[in-house]
Amino acid sequence: MTDEERQELLKKQKTDKLTPADRYKIPPQDMPEQDPVKRRSNVNEVATGYTETHARLEAMRCLQCKKAPCIKGCPVQIKIQDFVAAICDGDFKKALAVIKENSLLPAVCGRVCPQEVQCQQTCTVGLKFKDPTKAVSIGRLERFVADLDQEEIIPTVAPETGMKVAVIGSGPGGIVTAADTRRAGHDVTIFEAFHKTGGVLVYGIPEFRLPKAIVQKEIDVLTEMGVKIVCNFVVGRTRTIEQLMKEDGFDAVYIGVGAGLPRFMGIEGESLVGVFSANEYLTRANLMKAYDFGKGADTPIVRSKKVAVIGGGNVAMDSARTAVRLGAEKVYLVYRRTEKEMPARIEEVHHAKQEGVEFHILQSPKRVIGDQNSRVTAIECLKYRLGEPDESGRRRPIPIEGSEFQIDVDTCIIAIGNIANPLIRQTTAGLEFNKWGNILVDENCKTSLDGVYAGGDIVLGAATVILAMGQGRIAAAAINDYLAKKKQKS
Ligand SMILES: Cc1cc2nc3c(=O)[nH]c(=O)nc-3n(C[C@H](O)[C@H](O)[C@H](O)COP(=O)(O)OP(=O)(O)OC[C@H]3O[C@@H](n4cnc5c(N)ncnc54)[C@H](O)[C@@H]3O)c2cc1C
Repeated sequence: MTDEERQELLKKQKTDKLTPADRYKIPPQDMPEQDPVKRRSNVNEVATGYTETHARLEAMRCLQCKKAPCIKGCPVQIKIQDFVAAICDGDFKKALAVIKENSLLPAVCGRVCPQEVQCQQTCTVGLKFKDPTKAVSIGRLERFVADLDQEEIIPTVAPETGMKVAVIGSGPGGIVTAADTRRAGHDVTIFEAFHKTGGVLVYGIPEFRLPKAIVQKEIDVLTEMGVKIVCNFVVGRTRTIEQLMKEDGFDAVYIGVGAGLPRFMGIEGESLVGVFSANEYLTRANLMKAYDFGKGADTPIVRSKKVAVIGGGNVAMDSARTAVRLGAEKVYLVYRRTEKEMPARIEEVHHAKQEGVEFHILQSPKRVIGDQNSRVTAIECLKYRLGEPDESGRRRPIPIEGSEFQIDVDTCIIAIGNIANPLIRQTTAGLEFNKWGNILVDENCKTSLDGVYAGGDIVLGAATVILAMGQGRIAAAAINDYLAKKKQKS
């Protein structure tokens, strides 16, 4: 589509009412991206964002369906058709205000939410063309208006209640809980184990997908609102939940500690030098900025030549693409099912391929091989075939006996998932958990302990940013309610 054609359509939208047929004719607006060859050697954001023209044209593709099936696909029920209509009209402030009614972190969600399996999956336009890539790009539109938000609006805080809330963990769930409880006038403190706030948004998801300045802006809003932030504070080690409540005077606690414990495969050679959990690899690279080692940062990271990343989710894609940027000559993504079953976002798979990551599907390591110095030299893999669907609904991978072969590598990154860290469990009597170590909560995110709430990955297992935010919101509403009643009684 030429620029003139784009301008013509925008004019038409102002003068005539567009029919559904007109809207179907507008092609999906691609988002400009950094060239794949150039971006292999930098950590700048890959997708550079819509221009105003792109955004308005994309918004014009929306049919404004009365039943708005997209909203049903959104875990926090943003009024999607309203914000998209506001973009169509060029009223970007209104569009942002509509989004912010339900989502506090639109610049984050517009970038990392898996819209293709949420709001966009149910979009009528995509369904009409029987092609999900033709759905209205709701996520890109959300990002567009969020990025225009130059002047941050600091939410109003109610008069001080004198009640104290402890938020444990500063991931998306913790950020939302802190904002919503502070708005109600409570004295809120976030306790964070790391030296930096943001949770997976800063230590896991790489800069090239989510610039850290965006997360910092949200943290700055919290401090402007009067939320206190205490870093390098490990609840369960520095203080227990019981101490926070009984000795330090906190009236309510939100546990949002995520699922930060990496899973390993339990195969021979996993403790060799050069085997990393994806968590360690990404934390060094992102949070500690190891990509800038020797120039701006003092955290080293192995300079690998040949890297195998094991797994097929977002974490695996992030690890593989980070290895590319750290200068690896070959990066192999080894996954035991096929691309169809990969849990990673389609966009991430596409970007990884563009950047030269080689996909080894239907393969998985049987052991890691090392040299006399205990350094990784290769992985021995088995080939797999797919059987019947398992409990996850995906076809079960079945190893093919005698199919062993080796891939020469000097680094192996295990990205097969994360589980709950047992620290809170080991140090909090009376808190109930399921068999996987996730905290049990009711529909208000209340735990088995009075005044203690929980949400995000520690409840759901490794899930998504938007689900963690949604639970943070539910928990904050319940905490506000609980504290209002507590105050009345006192
Ligand atoms: C590499 C990677 C990529 C991902 N990509 C996506 C994506 O593209 N889209 C998406 O929607 N989701 C993605 N996810 C998942 C998503 O990031 C998580 O679901 C989400 O961050 C969970 O939020 P949370 O608030 O529960 O906790 P987290 O973000 O995990 O934050 C928990 C915080 O608690 C702190 N903490 C832990 N224990 C303690 C303690 N004892 N005391 C004090 N603080 C503690 C941690 O240091 C951390 O800062 C990804 C995850 C990873 C690891």
